[in-house]
Amino acid sequence: MRSHYCGVLSTANIDETVTICGWVDRRRDHGGVIFLDMRDRDGIVQVVFDPDTEEHFQRADKVRSEYVLKITGRVRARGEGTVNPAMATGEIEILGKELEILNTAATPPFQLDEHTAVGEEVRLRYRYMDLRRQEMQDKLIMRSRITSAIRSFLDSEGFLDIETPILTRATPEGARDYLVPSRTHPGQFFALPQSPQLFKQLLMVSGFDRYYQVAKCFRDEDLRADRQPEFTQIDIETSFLGEDEIMAITERMTRELFKATLNVDLPEFPHMPYAEAMERYGSDKPDLRIDMELVSVDDLMQQVDFKVFRGPADDAAGRVAALKVTGGAKISRKEIDEYTKYVSIFGAKGLAWIKVNDLAAGVEGLQAPILKFMPDEVVMQMMDRLGAADGDIIFFGADKANIVNEAIGALRIKVAEDLGLIREGWAPLWVVDFPMFEDNGSGGLTPLHHPFTAPSCSVEELQANPATALSRAYDMVLNGCELGGGSIRIHERDMQEAVFRILEISDEEANEKFGFLLQALQYGAPPHGGLAFGLDRMVMLMTDSASIRDVIAFPKTQTAACVMTDAPGDVNAQQLRELNIRLRQQKEPAEG
Ligand code: ASP
Repeated sequence: MRSHYCGVLSTANIDETVTICGWVDRRRDHGGVIFLDMRDRDGIVQVVFDPDTEEHFQRADKVRSEYVLKITGRVRARGEGTVNPAMATGEIEILGKELEILNTAATPPFQLDEHTAVGEEVRLRYRYMDLRRQEMQDKLIMRSRITSAIRSFLDSEGFLDIETPILTRATPEGARDYLVPSRTHPGQFFALPQSPQLFKQLLMVSGFDRYYQVAKCFRDEDLRADRQPEFTQIDIETSFLGEDEIMAITERMTRELFKATLNVDLPEFPHMPYAEAMERYGSDKPDLRIDMELVSVDDLMQQVDFKVFRGPADDAAGRVAALKVTGGAKISRKEIDEYTKYVSIFGAKGLAWIKVNDLAAGVEGLQAPILKFMPDEVVMQMMDRLGAADGDIIFFGADKANIVNEAIGALRIKVAEDLGLIREGWAPLWVVDFPMFEDNGSGGLTPLHHPFTAPSCSVEELQANPATALSRAYDMVLNGCELGGGSIRIHERDMQEAVFRILEISDEEANEKFGFLLQALQYGAPPHGGLAFGLDRMVMLMTDSASIRDVIAFPKTQTAACVMTDAPGDVNAQQLRELNIRLRQQKEPAEG
């Protein structure tokens, strides 16, 4: 139907007769001349109809916002003074000759350029309209370019794109499963995959060597701001490569991706052990664009009587950490109160601080309610360790180490945002040497990644000291976001069984749930490993989007629902009967 997209027309097309198809973005009547801004996924172009084209002019007069039109006309330069530099096609316009109305449109539920006023609920209900906005079109076009660049890199490196099932058994990645009842096996359920983890490992056992998939994953979690119940991973697995090789190849992929889509040369990816990341940044996904670091002062606090600090300093599981904010003495008491409230979200019971007004005057030049509880020489030693200078503020966290890390790690980012201390640009890194397990809160252990991650020690060493064992896992982090994570996997049955035992999974349960994996490991499983990138988060970062929902065509809301299709929805009694399911809640489904 069309000869050109609207947005591609330029002075190079002057005097050409072109045909465009698209939507009416705006219609203006300027005393006998009708201007139509026509929009398609490539942009907007202005069309002018004058009364000379009688019949078509009459039609142009009738059209309204969001009508779908086909227009043929001649491209011409805009007159002096009417050039619009804010518009990509602003130097030209089309003098309309023919206009065909392909479809009419009811009054839009919201003006596309007033989307911010209507709220997200309305935007999601009429998502197909919301997606007409140029910003949304650009994001989804970028998403497509990103997946295509990743695919072509992986294809050229010999990776095979292999699909794995959606109706399957549970794959533990630490979330609840979405379950699908089976009609043919009454009372039994499929689980939707939390990731293709076990299938990709089995593909390695089959010899496929290098696998990838743009894979949908499903996790029934309480949704936080940037989570979705279904999301997309770039899922990768390889055989016969060690962690350094896997990190190198996927780092190259990321570099080439950024170059191809954003024309960005990413800097070096430093490798940082997990323990160092927690110590210096209180986070396993540190944002290295922020210079501030957490500094441990436990040894100094063991010399004070002040219980709030002394307790955690003496406790092996405790931590006292200081965060120096350069130039932060200007932060007001009211703002400090707000930060105190903020850290309480992470379980911190308070937020101690010291302002540095005049360091040359010693403790006299400092200002803080807590100073009276500490000997002067301890305070001055601390100032020394922190490299404090006039105009700084120092915040303190003192509690169990995990609370301090979370609270002060989050405070570091919040303060940096508020004071504009986040550098422009991109700061990638690899976090390595993760612990195998963490405390599950009830005396046992739970895997930090998933239970198929290989430890960096022998079965005997792992059994002797599981709580301190390290794993062969690695995470790629960019600007404080975990872009991807993976590991070398366990490829020997005895090691896999040892890990299940440490996790208090009985042999019986292990066989029932993962018998197929344990068996496969016996039939010549090669050493293998891989990782998965979170595509949605990657696109979100690369398009500088505020929400993950902005880079997904049809996302779910915070309560894991789709307000457009009204999913999840009721099913009728017959469907339930077929599935052998009776609902416990009072509401009876409609007969049908
Ligand atoms: N399956 C893991 C995940 O979804 C990633 C991996 O280990 O490859 O987090």
